[in-house]
Amino acid sequence: MTLITFFKNFLSTSFLLALSWLVTAIPLQAQRLPLSENLTSLLSPEGQTLLQNSKAQADYIPLMSQFVTQANGAFCGVASAVMVLNALEIPATVPSPWAQRYFTQDNIFNEKTEEVIPRSVITRQGMTLAQLSDLIATYTVEVKTFYGSDINLDQFRQIIRENLANDNNFVLINYLRRAIGQKRGGHISPIAAYNEESDQFLILDVSRYKYPPVWVDTETLWASTNTIDQVSQKTRGIVLISPPSLL
Ligand code: CA
Repeated sequence: MTLITFFKNFLSTSFLLALSWLVTAIPLQAQRLPLSENLTSLLSPEGQTLLQNSKAQADYIPLMSQFVTQANGAFCGVASAVMVLNALEIPATVPSPWAQRYFTQDNIFNEKTEEVIPRSVITRQGMTLAQLSDLIATYTVEVKTFYGSDINLDQFRQIIRENLANDNNFVLINYLRRAIGQKRGGHISPIAAYNEESDQFLILDVSRYKYPPVWVDTETLWASTNTIDQVSQKTRGIVLISPPSLL
C-alpha cells in the first residue's frame, strides 16, 4: 500500500465514521426540546456550578442512582414513584426480572394499586396529585401531600428545601410544564436539590428523552403547581415520601 492509498483509505474510513455518527446522533439530539431562557440545564457549566454550590442536595445522589426514563407518555408519576421507592430501599411485593425487591415501572402495580387507580387508567391519562400520593401510600411509607393552592411561596420553598437537606425522604412535584416554559401539559418528577443564592430548584425530569434535568426559580415552580388539573379539578402540588414515622 502506498502512502497515498493509505491516506485515501484513512479519509474514507473517517468520513464514513463521521457520517454514521451524524446519522445516529442527529435524531437523538433532535428528540430533546430547546430550553427557554429562564431554565438552566444541569448539563451546562452554569447548571453544574449551581449544584456544586447547593447546600440542600442530600437527595441528589440517591435519586440519580435510581434515575429512570418514563416508560410511556403517561408514566411520569409511575417512573417518579419507582425512583423514590428504590431510593428508600422499600421492598417490592412483586419480584422484578432482575432482583426480588427492586421496583420497576411494571412490578410497582399490584392488587392494592389497582384499587387506588387501575394501571389501564394511568396508561390512558396519567395520575393526579392525589392518585400519585395514594398509589405510593399502598407501600410501607408515609406520604404527605400539599396542594399548590394550600401553601404560599415561602411555605413551598421551606418545605422542599428542608426535605432536600435530608437524604432519608424525597419530594415529587406535580406541575404544569407550560407554566415554567416547557411543552406542555401536567407532569410529575422528583426534585433533587436547591440553590439558595439563585433561589432555584433542580428537577430530575423523567422524560429524559425530552428535557435534561433543569434548574427552575422557586416562584415560577410554585406558580406551576398552583394550576388546575382538569381531571381532579384541584391544583397540582407536591408529595413528600418518607419511611414510616419519619415525617
Ligand atoms: Ca430528602
